Amino acid sequence: MESHNIAGDLEEVLLTEEQIQGRLAELARQIEADYAGENVLLVGVLKGAVMVMADLARELNMQVTMDWMAVSSYGSGTTSSGVVRILKDLDSDLTGRKVLIVEDIIDSGLTLSWLISNLKSRGPESVEICALLRKPEAARVDIDVKYLGFDIPNKFVVGYGLDYNEQYRNMRSVGILAPHIYS
Ligand code: 5GP
Ligand code: MG
Ligand code: MG
Repeated sequence: MESHNIAGDLEEVLLTEEQIQGRLAELARQIEADYAGENVLLVGVLKGAVMVMADLARELNMQVTMDWMAVSSYGSGTTSSGVVRILKDLDSDLTGRKVLIVEDIIDSGLTLSWLISNLKSRGPESVEICALLRKPEAARVDIDVKYLGFDIPNKFVVGYGLDYNEQYRNMRSVGILAPHIYS
């Protein structure tokens, strides 16, 4: 593949690196205050949440444990069905743990809603959500997101962990792909 400026494939930058990092720092201060003296288990959902997890965890001035899960949503094409399969489970026992799920984006909310009840069934003390992005217009279930980065329009976005055909995850900003990329 010829090398090019991947950010040039965007039609619009929705969130710059500075905006993302600034917001993560604010969320980190809230999380530090809410979990003072506790060892939180951060559960990152692969692959999209890798960047949020890396930057949020390093911003937190407290003890945390990081673990990862990979899930896949059964369903046709790009729409989430809410039927979820675990591709990689956690290594940790959740009994009595304070769990904070770290997600890239909440679209329909079906995947996360399934994940929340799955993790709650394992006996944790609490399960809360931190998501960088949410599309309020796409919501099909109500999810109580305790730590939310940004609400965004109902458009397909890439960057900062989010992919199109496994590409663009390494962009530092979040944006909308230019139409010529799809064709
Ligand atoms: P949900 O179950 O909430 O509809 O879907 C959640 C998952 O779909 C996200 O974790 C993400 O992997 C994917 N997804 C939803 N919206 C977008 C988007 O705008 N861009 C990208 N790249 N992935 C998305
Ligand atoms: Mg995700
Ligand atoms: Mg994807």
